[in-house]
Formats: sequence, structure tokens, C-alpha cells
Amino acid sequence: MTGHVFYSNCAWCGTRHDRATNATDGEECAPVDGDATVCFACGEWLIFEHGYLRRPTAAEFIEIGSDDDCRRARAAWVFMTRTSEQFTDSAK
Ligand SMILES: [Zn+2]
Repeated sequence: MTGHVFYSNCAWCGTRHDRATNATDGEECAPVDGDATVCFACGEWLIFEHGYLRRPTAAEFIEIGSDDDCRRARAAWVFMTRTSEQFTDSAK
């Protein structure tokens, strides 16, 4: 998995992103305008637009919430975050 390289900040938490990976289709491809992604730092949804990341509109949030792939992507982020906390907690 190599991912698509780009540079933008999360519109929610400001974390700088420089790479995106297609987690749902199994193929490496560049995101197109309107594609949704999850910020790995804060878990909020973002939308690709003209090479940058913006917050979803209300209509896009509804679409994201009803999309099975988006729900699975968010669940994966939650799992990853909890697993990371477990490793951090066990190291103390
Ligand atoms: Zn973020």
C-alpha cells in the first residue's frame, strides 16, 4: 500500500496530512473531488476538494452516515485508536 501523496491540513484539528490510502476499494488511486476520508488524528470526516481537505456539508454528512464503507472506515479508526491506547497503557 503506497497511497496518494498530497499536502493539506485537517479542517477540524489542523493536523497536516501528506498521504491518503484507498481503504475501501482495494485499489490504489488518487482521490477525486467529493471523496470522503477520515482524519487519522481526530477521526472526523473530511472531503477532498481541489487537492485540499474541507469539512463535509450537512448533506454530505448524511450521505457519509448512510454509506457502509464509510461506517466501516470510521469503525476501523475507532478500533485503531483503542488498540493504540492499549499499547500505550500497557507500556506504563
Ligand atoms: Zn483531524
